[in-house]
This record gives sequence, structure tokens and C-alpha cells, in this order.
Amino acid sequence: MERQREETRRIEAFRKAARTILPLPEEEVRRRAADGTLTELPGIGPSTAAVITDACNGVVPERLVRLEGTAGPLAQGGEELRARLRGDLHSHSDWSDGGSPLEEMAMTAMELGHDYLVLTDHSPRLRVANGLSAERLARQLGVVDAVNEHLGDSFTLLKGIEVDILDDGSLDQTPEMLGRLDVRVASVHSKLKMDAALMTRRMVAAVRNPHTNVLGHCTGRLVTGNRGVRPQSQFDAKAVFTACAEEGVAVEINSRPERRDPPTRLLELARDLGCLFSIDSDAHAPGQLDMLDYGAARATEAGIEPDRIVTTWERDRLLEWASARL
Ligand SMILES: [Zn+2]
Ligand SMILES: [Zn+2]
Repeated sequence: MERQREETRRIEAFRKAARTILPLPEEEVRRRAADGTLTELPGIGPSTAAVITDACNGVVPERLVRLEGTAGPLAQGGEELRARLRGDLHSHSDWSDGGSPLEEMAMTAMELGHDYLVLTDHSPRLRVANGLSAERLARQLGVVDAVNEHLGDSFTLLKGIEVDILDDGSLDQTPEMLGRLDVRVASVHSKLKMDAALMTRRMVAAVRNPHTNVLGHCTGRLVTGNRGVRPQSQFDAKAVFTACAEEGVAVEINSRPERRDPPTRLLELARDLGCLFSIDSDAHAPGQLDMLDYGAARATEAGIEPDRIVTTWERDRLLEWASARL
């Protein structure tokens, strides 16, 4: 449901129902399914009860059959590149504005066959997104360590941040905390309509910051979806991408269908200026991790060589690149 961008409210209904029944003894769930009393439980309505009842009866719920019937690539044309992607450098958990625990994001990334997922919750200034203070981020790093201890060698949840680029181009987290992370995505989320010269200076300063590894959704535009549309912010793209190329900062290809950022013309400009790229999902829920299909299709269309896409690299090469300027 998430990968098809169904309404959050409907998806949340299933998550809530799952949270209700998971702690219950199996016999109680089976008895209630047989009695038809599942809907007496908080958070369980007729449609979630029907799914649970089918599952108790050993039947694959009809709804799941229907959803699985739509499996397969979300976009055409990027399949070969998609198969070469080893991970994702941009994802959110319920520590900031994501909908799911970080453990669940990690599990889904493993199911997708990723070698790594970078957890990049928001930074403190982004209050609407419950951005993490230095203290909360420090606590999150401890949780990430604990989660990794339970995972095998074939997958790593990496430490990261989507750090706000402040008006003057500085980054919204302490250098000490930024230094403790594996990968840092820097993005503009405020004053998107700033004057072009000031925006250029702001973005170049962020790219020149040795902590920055990825320039997130560079234009900030929204092209579709329930948040409405938003024009791209104005800046000297040649100056910004030249700085990216010189510093070895990857230009993010943000896979979210409502962003499609950078726009094609800018994507081609960054390609011609010799930039590195990172194809990211910017997932705020586990099912959205699959959106890399869209980014892979766009990168393929723009003719970007896979080796210039850092998310095709194996983990150790990626980590070496991400720490190179510190
Ligand atoms: Zn963002
Ligand atoms: Zn994000």
C-alpha cells in the first residue's frame, strides 16, 4: 500500500490493527476471529478484521492477493541500474517525521536486498518534522548500534542525518555530532524562495562544508501529490554543481514521485559537470523504500554511468568516500 502511495490514513489503520493484535496470545486472536469479535478491540475495523480472520483460517487475505498482483517494478526503463543499487542514503523513521520504527525500516531494506540503509532523520530546526536535538541523535546512535548487533554481516544500518542547510549555508547540527555519523545528507527546507544569488551562496557554502556528503532534493520543488505543487527554488545551478564536483559531494536523485528532483535539465547539467550522484528513496515508511525504481529510471534516461552513482558502491567504498573530507 505504501509503495503505491495509498492514503496514509488507510495504511495507518493496518499498522494500528497490527499493534493491537501482536501482543495478544494467539488463542485469543483465533477465538475472536471465530466469534467475529475482533472489531471489539481498539483500532480494529471491518476491513482489518477480515484480513486477520482470513489469516487465522490459513487463507491468504484477498486484499493481499490483490496487492501482490501489482508487484513488479514501479517504473519502466531503470531495471538494470536498479539491480545494481546496493543501498539507500536517505530515509526517515518515527524518531522524526517517518511513520515507522527504525527497526522496521531496516528489516524492509534487508528484504529488498540492500547491503546498507542510511537512517537520516531531520535536524533540530525542522520542528514540524520533530527534528532531533544533539541529545536525541546521540541516543538514536546507541539504538542503531544495538540494532546492528542483532543483524548479520550482510546488512548494516548506517548512521546519518538529513541536516538542514540554514540561511547562511551552515549546517543545523553540532560538528561533533556530524562527525560521529557515517553519511550526511544536507537539504534546504526553509526560505525556498530566497533570492537566487543568496540561495547560490547558501548552497555552495553547504556543499563546501567538509561534513556534507549528499546534496538532498536540490530544488525543493513538488510536482504532484497531496502536498500540492511548489516551484523549484532559484539558484546558479552551474556554480552549485561545480562545487559538488570539486568537493566530491553527490547530487541526490530524489526518487519520490512528487519531487522528481533535480528536474531533467539540471540532472543533465550535473552529469555534464562531472558530479557524483546518489539515488535515494527519501522513504518515510518501509514500503516507500521501493521508490528507488523511479530514481533508477531517471538516471538511466539521463545516461549516467553506474559507477558515478555512489549507491551502486559496496559499503566499504561508500564509507571511505563519505569520510574522506573530514
Ligand atoms: Zn528533505
Ligand atoms: Zn528526507
